[in-house]
Amino acid sequence: MKNLKIAIQKSGRLNEKSVQLLKNCGLDFENYKSSLITTVGNFPLEILFLRDDDIPGYVEQGIADLGIVGENIIDETESKVEYLKRLGFGKCTLKLAIPKDSSIEDLRDLNGKAIATSYPNILRNFLTAYNIEADIRLISGSVEISPGLGLSDAICDIVSTGGTLKSNGLKPFADVKTSEAILVGRKGLEGNEILTELVQRIESVLLAKETKYVVLNVEKKNLPAITSLLHGVKSPTVVPLAEEGWVAVHTVITEDDFWDKINKLKAEGAQGIVVMPIEKIIL
Ligand code: ATP
Ligand code: MG
Repeated sequence: MKNLKIAIQKSGRLNEKSVQLLKNCGLDFENYKSSLITTVGNFPLEILFLRDDDIPGYVEQGIADLGIVGENIIDETESKVEYLKRLGFGKCTLKLAIPKDSSIEDLRDLNGKAIATSYPNILRNFLTAYNIEADIRLISGSVEISPGLGLSDAICDIVSTGGTLKSNGLKPFADVKTSEAILVGRKGLEGNEILTELVQRIESVLLAKETKYVVLNVEKKNLPAITSLLHGVKSPTVVPLAEEGWVAVHTVITEDDFWDKINKLKAEGAQGIVVMPIEKIIL
């Protein structure tokens, strides 16, 4: 079967996690910073390293079959690609921000104002949905300095922690779009065996990342209370300890309610709780 090509960011915020995800899927490849393309040794896949802005277009045109790119870039380029998997990294929000002392209080106050952004298409669609007419000024980088220079009344830019806004005397005003990294594919790839295998591996890596392997000791009399708190991949494994009347319980706990679960287990008599990372879960 013909190799598939996947495009990932060459360098920048998504590069490292994209490479790590593919490696965690068991793919063996050299991550040469200087080359544009590399072949995976143990899987029918080639990896293209590109500027993130170019990835959706390459996938839309079928030059690459797959891509890993931020949703913000997919939306901004208005590319027709299939969403195959949300990847849970590269999370950020495209926000409107205004100077700290701005008189703008309401979205409607943006009417007639100048807004600087690198995301003119997303911003235009957002403003249209709220019936706002503003002057969109396209700036390719360092958007946050434009109000200070008198170039705009507001900005629309990617924010993750808000530190850059603050240091430029700006405050967030409204969320325009949230984004994360997405695995996208070209149209017509449905049912491709290599894709199916890759997506299955990605899913097992993502699932494993959300879970922890937990081993704890408990007195046998407390076991029913402990097992009622646990629903692992199936039911927990219970192994007798050398000490009479005690057992070890092995299970899997999800990351989202981790501390809550651990505290409840302790309250029901769990001791010597050991938590371990999981590499993969194949359901
Ligand atoms: P390239 O050279 O590939 O064009 P870039 O400079 O345009 O890179 P990066 O800053 O590396 O892009 O960001 C890549 C993507 O990472 C963004 O498009 C966005 O989806 C995501 N991202 C996550 N957090 C942030 C953040 N704090 N600021 C900017 N982008 C972020
Ligand atoms: Mg870019």
